[in-house]
Amino acid sequence: MNLKGKTALVTGSTSGIGLGIALVLAEAGADLLLNGFGDAQAAIDAVAASGGKVLHHPADMSDPQQIEAMIAYAEREFGAIDILVNNAGIQHVSPVEDFAPERWDAIIAINLSSAFHTTRLALPGMRQRNWGRIINIASAHGLAASAGKSAYVAAKHGLVGLSKSVALETATTGITCNAICPGWVLTPLVQAQIDARAAESGNSEEEKRKLLAEKQPSLEFVTPRQLGELALFLCSDAAAQVRGAAWNMDGGWLAQ
Ligand code: NAD
Repeated sequence: MNLKGKTALVTGSTSGIGLGIALVLAEAGADLLLNGFGDAQAAIDAVAASGGKVLHHPADMSDPQQIEAMIAYAEREFGAIDILVNNAGIQHVSPVEDFAPERWDAIIAINLSSAFHTTRLALPGMRQRNWGRIINIASAHGLAASAGKSAYVAAKHGLVGLSKSVALETATTGITCNAICPGWVLTPLVQAQIDARAAESGNSEEEKRKLLAEKQPSLEFVTPRQLGELALFLCSDAAAQVRGAAWNMDGGWLAQ
């Protein structure tokens, strides 16, 4: 798949899965607008090594006004957003009766509402060119639940639903919208959960094994690169009729 001449915006791409997807899309020739907190320059350098134009916008994905500014910046700097990967996300684990309302609001804003805002703002340009790919990074938790993750599970189920609605609204166009549903991927988001469990048991490696054994039959983590390759496939002509799918890559998690 040659993405030369296409521009991709990947939210939350300074780390983990978003960075992995940005790298694969850049290797396929796409120009990239990165987004996310932390060391933006390191992410820019890593992605720019593949040769295309790479910029970063620091929009906080919980703030619709900053999202509007980022989409306007992308269209100004690149002329278009052809591929939109809604990936930014956070986690918080707590029983629902103890769940801090501000954590709930933040998870819904960053993991779900941000995708509504980027989509509504990027779609008009995609419609003008009659080509686009919207890829929402949901989760195995977009299709099944776990205890302690009420906000995350609600947001990810919502993201799968949003993907289906947008797929129907664009069904007769050259724009597709799909969700990818990863199982465990060893990123800072998951390492924090391993660390929290290890704080009690004192054994991080054992907690990692237990995390996989609880959910992921392959007993191996999915990698950001594998998810990037799946995103690249969804950008291809071969995937033009993949519409409204929630595609799990989860080491067998959802087969159980
Ligand atoms: P990560 O913590 O490594 O990366 C998250 C990215 O989002 C970072 O770039 C961070 O700066 C950015 N981000 C966080 N809050 C933001 C905000 N308010 N505004 C802008 N950017 C923000 O996590 P990850 O594991 O790579 O997760 C990426 C996505 O994949 C998330 O949506 C997550 O829910 C999803 N996911 C992760 C796993 C997993 O096992 N790691 C599994 C399924 C789904």
